[in-house]
Amino acid sequence: IVQWTPFFQTYKKTRYPWVQLAGHQGNFKAGPEPGTILKKLCPKEQMCFQVLMKDALRPFVPEYKGYITTDDGELYLQLQDLLSEFSSPCVMDCKIGVRTYLEEELAKAKEKPKLRKDMYEKMIQIDSNAPTEEEHRLKGVTKPRYMVWRETISSTATLGFRIEGIRKSDGKSSKDFKTTKTKEQIIEAFRDFTDEFPDVIEKYIRRLQDIRNTLQVSKFFATHEVIGSSLLFVHDQKNAGVWLIDFAKTVILPSDVKINHGSEWIVGNHEDGYLIGLNNLIDVFAEMTKI
Ligand code: ATP
Ligand code: MG
Ligand code: MG
Repeated sequence: IVQWTPFFQTYKKTRYPWVQLAGHQGNFKAGPEPGTILKKLCPKEQMCFQVLMKDALRPFVPEYKGYITTDDGELYLQLQDLLSEFSSPCVMDCKIGVRTYLEEELAKAKEKPKLRKDMYEKMIQIDSNAPTEEEHRLKGVTKPRYMVWRETISSTATLGFRIEGIRKSDGKSSKDFKTTKTKEQIIEAFRDFTDEFPDVIEKYIRRLQDIRNTLQVSKFFATHEVIGSSLLFVHDQKNAGVWLIDFAKTVILPSDVKINHGSEWIVGNHEDGYLIGLNNLIDVFAEMTKI
């Protein structure tokens, strides 16, 4: 059990522990205005938020309130705290897409592929059968090989999303989903996430459908490769919401490339599998309402 509360937040006279389910500790701070947080500024992400504030997707992303420099001289984005309207919320971060690295990161890793002993070690720690005979003999794997393999240990490569972390209303949290891969395992985790308030499943389905409809008309979505971005699920006794967060690896598509976010990714075609993940999420929640 991991408790990850980098700071306390105060909103409408209540004080609550803020929840961070992914990323580096130290990337987030309480915001200067009530109901806001600060995230370390990355220019790519800032660009995305600026565009998103004028896009059809605006209601589905945290409000971007500009950037500020803190006393220590660091730049931060000021964002709406999606937790502030909830009381003792359950929170889940699902990273969307069939891969979590950019085409350019894979291309760079392929430039001078050295055999990496550290990556081989990580690989056999998770699955001693993963390396080929030759890789076993050499006790090393290349970085591109490792990058592609790593997406197959969770549901990323197959379902187009993976669970990054879950926190329940009682404060118990887990980030132990690195090898949560099958639909059955996902359903088990989602069941646990929603067990106090099973009615939220229907609310999540409706909200995810709204997101899907809006993505179809979003200019931002049509022109970006969305990598490493998450859907943040938040619910309490009364309300439920889902928002798109984390655009640090979302990049504008080359002008001669069009993607539909639903086709298979083939190295170089820039497909991110965002809609594969979203559709599977909706299907999994829908299946849960039937059993
Ligand atoms: P990584 O790239 O490793 O996923 P990151 O540093 O880019 O991490 P984010 O993914 O944007 O950070 O956010 C990390 C976590 O912080 C999320 O999983 C979520 O729990 C929380 N979080 C981020 N943005 C918000 C927000 N606007 N409101 C509430 N919680 C947020
Ligand atoms: Mg993230
Ligand atoms: Mg990120």
